[in-house]
Amino acid sequence: MSANAYEIQLDRLRVKNSKRKRKISRILSEFRESTTALPDATVVLDREQTVQWWNEKAIEKLGFNRKSCRGKHIRKLLKDPVFRAYLDAGDFSNQIEMPAPVNEQVKLEVRIVPFGKGKLLLQARDITRLAQLETIRSDFVANVSHEMRTPLTVVHGYLESMLHSGDQALAEWNPIVEQMYQQSARMQRIVEDLLLISRLESEHDRTVDQFDVRPLLSAVRDEAVTLSGEQKHNVILEIEGDTNFVGVFSEIDSAFSNLVSNAVRYTPAGGDIHIRWWNSKNGPCFSVADAGIGIEPEHIPRLTERFYRVDVGRSRSSGGTGLGLAIVKHVLLRHGSELQIESKLGKGSTFKCCFPAQKYSD
Ligand code: ADP
Repeated sequence: MSANAYEIQLDRLRVKNSKRKRKISRILSEFRESTTALPDATVVLDREQTVQWWNEKAIEKLGFNRKSCRGKHIRKLLKDPVFRAYLDAGDFSNQIEMPAPVNEQVKLEVRIVPFGKGKLLLQARDITRLAQLETIRSDFVANVSHEMRTPLTVVHGYLESMLHSGDQALAEWNPIVEQMYQQSARMQRIVEDLLLISRLESEHDRTVDQFDVRPLLSAVRDEAVTLSGEQKHNVILEIEGDTNFVGVFSEIDSAFSNLVSNAVRYTPAGGDIHIRWWNSKNGPCFSVADAGIGIEPEHIPRLTERFYRVDVGRSRSSGGTGLGLAIVKHVLLRHGSELQIESKLGKGSTFKCCFPAQKYSD
């Protein structure tokens, strides 16, 4: 090939190259523009969890600066304890909530998505507005419940006096007054349960104690026997291993009582109810198994929602408020546990929860 032909080919290559460069830089700038437009803060971490790349929103919401974050470990940049625990646990199937490092008033929902070979994509979404609406909602429920408490106590009290007055002039009204009395008692139970849920949602500084669950479990069993009364369920309590527990006594009492009273209310007379406490290798567990009516699988995921009932009539006639399992869910959440439900229609149900390994103070 002549020198001239070489030069022509070289020239062509140069033109091709510069076209390619322009194309790449156009793609890059489009990528930058689109990531800047992303509503969420986005950070790319390598397999060592050091920062490789971040967008504009990460500067605004996470307090990253334009230059000096590259190569820094994410733990050094985001110091929130909840975030650090999330990162250390390495289970990224859920997201967490934390205050923005730049402003405590801003609430962020942070999610980590693994990609490539051990790399991580961190996304932080501003959920301040959502959190405010949630607070308004739960304050409203708490206020309404609180306001209803006193009038209900008065009405209930007068109805009780009328029932027990012995006044013959009132005798013909007794069946009606009796019904009003029962219904006002039901409303009182609903109000008390709503107030308890509000407290479970909003109180974060609660006193955690170390206690022995054995007397609590015996009391819960005795309650079940009393509730069963003439129905004479066969209530068995089985305790194995360490019974020391660290938590809030009243909350655990309320959760276990709710599960056991449900077992009585949804099991035909004479049926077996098995209450168990044992220690698994990961920590203590509690379960209530009944030989009751059971639950169809499609209802199970929704049972812990407030006022969700499979059969409204049955729940009401057995004295339910529709809030028992919602209370259980909140209590367990506050004790690092969650409710597991197994059930077979017509055969019975098992409600189980396992707690993290207990750390006792001496
Ligand atoms: P309720 O006051 O209606 O019992 P809960 O929140 O305690 O409210 O329970 C929600 C629903 O879950 C109940 O209405 C019932 O349909 C179902 N459920 C709860 N426990 C049991 C059980 N042991 N067996 C069968 N169904 C149950």
